[in-house]
Amino acid sequence: MRSLRYERPADPAAAVAVVHDTPGAVFLAGGTNLVDHLKLGVATPDLLVDVSHLPLDTVEETADGGIRVGTNVRNSDLAAHPHVRSNYPMLSRALLAGASPQLRNLATTGGNLLQRTRCSYFRDVTTACNKREPGTGCSALGGYTRYHAVLGASEHCVATHPSDMAVALLALDAEVLVLGPDGERAVAVEDFYRPPGDTPERDTVLERDELVVGVRIPPPHTPLSTYRKVRDRASYAFALVSVAAEMTVADGTITGCRLAFGGVAHGPWRAHRAEAALLGQPPTESVFASAADAELAEATPLDGNAYKIPLLRRTVVATLRELDERRGRGESA
Ligand SMILES: Cc1cc2nc3c(=O)[nH]c(=O)nc-3n(C[C@H](O)[C@H](O)[C@H](O)COP(=O)(O)OP(=O)(O)OC[C@H]3O[C@@H](n4cnc5c(N)ncnc54)[C@H](O)[C@@H]3O)c2cc1C
Repeated sequence: MRSLRYERPADPAAAVAVVHDTPGAVFLAGGTNLVDHLKLGVATPDLLVDVSHLPLDTVEETADGGIRVGTNVRNSDLAAHPHVRSNYPMLSRALLAGASPQLRNLATTGGNLLQRTRCSYFRDVTTACNKREPGTGCSALGGYTRYHAVLGASEHCVATHPSDMAVALLALDAEVLVLGPDGERAVAVEDFYRPPGDTPERDTVLERDELVVGVRIPPPHTPLSTYRKVRDRASYAFALVSVAAEMTVADGTITGCRLAFGGVAHGPWRAHRAEAALLGQPPTESVFASAADAELAEATPLDGNAYKIPLLRRTVVATLRELDERRGRGESA
């Protein structure tokens, strides 16, 4: 049996200092992902630095009309927050599409962003995995790849990131607020997740001793937004593919669109090419499909996951069609 220490620092700076000074220390929040990894032997820390009690648990409106979400806001509380439900429905829907009510009651904002891949080889310590043990190889390549990446993967890792919330935050141009030994910094969600390249063991740009203290979301462009998740079961299953979308239309022309995908890449995937293809066009099915094709032109399927490309294409079309129909009915959220 491995011995393991546990500490509960009094404030965020103390938590950062302990992790900074202790090799083998990691932050613990709701524990819904990390504790599984302790049991599986995927994570082998010497010290758990519990941050779940720190007073970083409020949703505050900011002067510019956006919101700041403390890292310890639970997924269920964020999904149910009246301001989030009214102004950022894609975020509320993404959160509610994740896990189960019990898990969402424990899971935190920061922990959700930093949860690790569900790749079965990553979670099975008897198999080779470059993400878990750099340099050992990738068992998924040539293995079971139904859940793996079709965009942005590398020859070292084809895992996907499982967070639904992160997909919505990416589409909303959110920033992750981080406290390190030298103070606080903000990192756009778009820059937060790293492509796997030849260092897939690092999911994000976060340093080991940096604590996520919150997320800042700019004011919404339109409250007419949504999140659509396709999965093997109607609930309690990770995304095969997912789409976070908002779209504004004026005089029969798309004047704004923000689109991000989940379940297809090492992190949430911003569909910049699709967004560019939509702008200035009429909101028709063929335009939606061409936009999806523009993004998926660079997709590289593996043996087991080629189905994700037409599935994602159809999901993009269905999501944008839904938004346009709701706009046509005069719905605002
Ligand atoms: C059965 C099951 C089904 C699930 N289904 C879904 C799903 O469909 N969609 C989905 O999105 N998620 C799903 N999840 C994942 C769930 O959302 C995550 O487990 C949860 O969000 C993690 O949050 P936590 O607070 O429990 O993090 P923890 O488990 O405490 O931590 C997770 C990681 O984040 C790090 N960490 C935590 N807080 C901080 C911080 N403030 N700063 C820096 N590092 C930090 C920890 O060190 C650890 O590495 C599922 C989980 C389970 C067990």
